[in-house]
Amino acid sequence: MRAIRIRETGGPEVLRYEDVPTPDPGPGQVRVKVTATGLNYIETYHRTGLYPLSLPFIPGGEFAGTVDALGPGVSGFALGDRVATASGAGGYAEYALAPADKLVAVPEGVDLHLAAAVMLQGMTAHYLAYSTYPLKAGEICLIHAAAGGVGLLLTQIASRLGARVIGTVGSLEKAELARAAGVSDVILYRDEPFAPRVRELTCGRGVDVVYDSVGQDTWEGSLDCLRPRGMMVTFGNSSGPVPTVSPLVLSSKGSLFLTRPTLWHYIATPEELAWRAGDLFGWMIAGALSVRVDHRFPMADAADAHSALQGRATAGKVLLIP
Ligand code: NDP
Repeated sequence: MRAIRIRETGGPEVLRYEDVPTPDPGPGQVRVKVTATGLNYIETYHRTGLYPLSLPFIPGGEFAGTVDALGPGVSGFALGDRVATASGAGGYAEYALAPADKLVAVPEGVDLHLAAAVMLQGMTAHYLAYSTYPLKAGEICLIHAAAGGVGLLLTQIASRLGARVIGTVGSLEKAELARAAGVSDVILYRDEPFAPRVRELTCGRGVDVVYDSVGQDTWEGSLDCLRPRGMMVTFGNSSGPVPTVSPLVLSSKGSLFLTRPTLWHYIATPEELAWRAGDLFGWMIAGALSVRVDHRFPMADAADAHSALQGRATAGKVLLIP
């Protein structure tokens, strides 16, 4: 089969399209014929070595397609079933493996491209708004990169919960998309410092929670946006990792709570995985959640896809099509 393989860490040029053996499913695994693979920021960290993996490897954990082969001991799936996962392996390929207990059935009303687009970023948005800081109606949240993959989905979910969303974006085009998703106050954070603006917009009070995927560049300002005892949720590094933190900073900024969550701890049980994926698919079928696919790149052009994502040139989801 054809796949993207990384032999050494580095820039997008290390993503090479090659012939590789088709993988055989081991115990508890399912082989999926991939219809679409979701591009996620984490794969840029795997590519550069920020999150090290042993070389060589085929990147990609999020994909949707049809069941092609079952490993020993797998039950509950049949050949040809439409499935999706955020926790597979080797997804930048025509065929990829996933643990059966991390695979979900895709309902008939959901297109496989959209299923691949929503699994990782959608379940992330879901756990952030429902579990990390369970948003209540009338609360105020700040969402950075509100027109990004996670950002557009989190904005819609937060709005559905009745929260007021203040969002930062990098361009006027992204501002329009963020507003359409439910951001009530958009801040162009490349043009003005966002923290004083957030204070102004909240009449000096500050927001209840900051959902920060940008990391290094927004870390300090984000702490200055919170109300006393508010929660700082730093969940990404799009501008680089957050530097080392002294707990005393949290005290001086208002007895703040700080968490650095990751999706894997929020879909660790079959019940949580089914809850989050089920909610997302249900909302999509009901027309209550819009999943924006910004780009579809042929798998062979994965390097261009990585450059677009890291170059802030995307709004919503990027898919790779084998
Ligand atoms: P996005 O679609 O949000 O893309 C990144 C966006 O970040 C850009 O489009 C850009 O938006 C903004 N950005 C700000 N500064 C920079 C910079 N210096 N370089 C590049 N982009 C910048 O990506 P995702 O939604 O896929 O992921 C966002 C982050 O969340 C990633 O760091 C990812 O790893 C993390 N994440 C974490 C998860 C978790 O469970 N912890 C799960 C899923 C994602 P703009 O132009 O508007 O500034």
